[in-house]
Amino acid sequence: MRKILPIILLLILCISLCACSNNAAPITPPEGEESEEPSTQEAIYSFTDEEGRTHYAIYVNGEQIQTEHDAYTYPDEPKGAYYPIVEVLEHFGVKCLFDEHLEALTTRVNGQIITCKTDSSDIVIGKHTLGGASPEYIDGCFYVPSYTFMHLLDAVVDFTPDRSGVTITTETTIDTASSGTKGLSISAAAVPSLGKPLYSGAQACLTCGGSGAALCTSCSGTGGSTQYTQKQDPLTGQMTIQSTRVSCSRCHGSGRVVCPTCGGTGKR
Ligand SMILES: [Zn+2]
Ligand SMILES: [Zn+2]
Repeated sequence: MRKILPIILLLILCISLCACSNNAAPITPPEGEESEEPSTQEAIYSFTDEEGRTHYAIYVNGEQIQTEHDAYTYPDEPKGAYYPIVEVLEHFGVKCLFDEHLEALTTRVNGQIITCKTDSSDIVIGKHTLGGASPEYIDGCFYVPSYTFMHLLDAVVDFTPDRSGVTITTETTIDTASSGTKGLSISAAAVPSLGKPLYSGAQACLTCGGSGAALCTSCSGTGGSTQYTQKQDPLTGQMTIQSTRVSCSRCHGSGRVVCPTCGGTGKR
């Protein structure tokens, strides 16, 4: 009996070792790693970044829209989502403008002028100042609370049933004649930063001061943005969020785009 016991123990050890390596086998092959590669490129909504904001995809009238910046909420206010206003309005065909000293974002939607400022003051729509949360200016992007679109587009804002996205539902149609940057002017102090004027005086386009250029509203002229990607650890299976600095896809890192009013000619 004394001789048999160690052999039995050794056998048990062998069997359990074999079982272990069999279990471990499916996790380690290199082809598994390759097939996971595409999923790291696309963010799977919703996810929480390192600063605690939960990010969501954006749906307008039932369809997901592709934006450089997504929507987010804060943990202590899970119902109050913030939306990137420039990209949401662009989906409706309305371009925005940085005016004054390149500190304020402004545009018109069906005759109503909307303004938000980098110093986090209130959001102004026409003659009304929206009470409640201030706009947020993060990483060169303006975000406004969801109810801004309730006022601006008579929209219903909500979350998708699975809470992977935020929604904007509206029947408002945009009147192009009374929407966009036409008629809005940039301050004289802000013009030099846009480049040499092509036209001056009465001939110059008001929006760009005759420069033909505008500050990129997607990155506020910073030329870049932070992109979040979700990565799965191949060993633990744990999902982590990685943030990387990427060149702005709209202005290709230059921080300047063609003036939306004059199309780059600089002429009024
Ligand atoms: Zn840009
Ligand atoms: Zn112009």
